[in-house]
Amino acid sequence: MTREECLKRDQTDELRHFRDRYAIPRGMIYLDGNSLGLMPRAVPERVAHAVSVQWAEDLITSWNKHGWFHLPRVAGNKIARLIGAATDSVIVADTISVNLFKVLSAALALRRGRKVILSDSGNFPSDLYVAQGLNRFLADGHSLKAVAPEDVLDAISTDVAVVMVTEVDYRTARRHDMKAIVTKAHAQGALVIWDLAHSAGAIPVDLMGADCDFAIGCTYKYINGGPGSPAFVFVHPRLQNEAEPALVGWWGHANPFAFSPEWQPASGMVRQQCGTQAMLSMVALDAALDTWADADMQKLHAKSKDLCGLFIALVEERCARHGLKLAGPRDFAARGSHVSFHCPEGYAVMQALIAAGVVGDFRAPDLIRFGFAPLYNSFTETFDAAETLGHILDTRSWNRPEFLAKKSVT
Ligand SMILES: *Cc1c(COP(=O)(O)O)cnc(C)c1O
Repeated sequence: MTREECLKRDQTDELRHFRDRYAIPRGMIYLDGNSLGLMPRAVPERVAHAVSVQWAEDLITSWNKHGWFHLPRVAGNKIARLIGAATDSVIVADTISVNLFKVLSAALALRRGRKVILSDSGNFPSDLYVAQGLNRFLADGHSLKAVAPEDVLDAISTDVAVVMVTEVDYRTARRHDMKAIVTKAHAQGALVIWDLAHSAGAIPVDLMGADCDFAIGCTYKYINGGPGSPAFVFVHPRLQNEAEPALVGWWGHANPFAFSPEWQPASGMVRQQCGTQAMLSMVALDAALDTWADADMQKLHAKSKDLCGLFIALVEERCARHGLKLAGPRDFAARGSHVSFHCPEGYAVMQALIAAGVVGDFRAPDLIRFGFAPLYNSFTETFDAAETLGHILDTRSWNRPEFLAKKSVT
């Protein structure tokens, strides 16, 4: 596609009105919505109200008066629609890592006697750390087995208690076959936990259709909930009253305001809550979720594939002689909504790109990564980003001390 054609494509894009709902810094091409999504314009007013009226004036009555106490469930149901979950099977709380600890401990308790947690070597390190930490804590012979992503299906055996995988690989965008993994796991008597960090809001997910047991995900990436916004957790309705997380607290108690000294789990998803949640972040997330109310995940997915496909084609054409190599599969049924290239001197190249107003990120050892958020990224931006990358590589303008020096967050 030429730039002209990209402009035309944007003008006829039936999703283009969504872009107006986000604050987009002038002159910036933001391709990092897979790490921290743009701010929805509806957020400042909602947060300002939560601060200056709900907190400043209504104070403690806001737990009832402004619905703070039930907001984790209300927001959870808005997320449920995006990931094919049943009503009241998603709750917002804590972080992915904390929620993984909860559901992994609950799942292992449901499969006593089995000692293997199966994952893949491309999984996000924090997920692997949580499993390692839990195994050490349980001191009951559990082990974490991480195989190559393409070997997960074959590695599911009757020794496996839990298959714990991230649907879309944070580096390569490779997407697991959810249905195939769940079907095989259930046939072998294992449970499955999905990490949807790079799926929720990016691609259609059908948790109920695939008969998934557990899922977790964050809301600050494609869902645009804001820095450190609370994560979500899904438990299939058939397991909700059986699954007992090892991490419990008064917000998950059947009757928190009885202040009973004995633990008694609430029914349903409420027991997956632990303690008091960060309400200002929860309010920001809830406002962000309202911008999704009329979003059709199938249409978003079609646009995501078009944007990623365009970027891959342009970069491969424009930057062919610079040794860039696409990471992950080419088949769009087996990819998420970001695109990574192996790139020599990738760190410095990304710093130069950011300085030129094209914001992506770098993932060690050599990947430059670009997230395409179908709600707000455009075809023209995609074209311009590929051009800028080509220019930086042609001129070697990345080769400067300020671009080569590593910062603490990449
Ligand atoms: C971003 C990300 C996380 C982050 O976990 P937090 O506990 O919310 O910091 C976890 N898993 C995957 C796959 C991610 O991409």
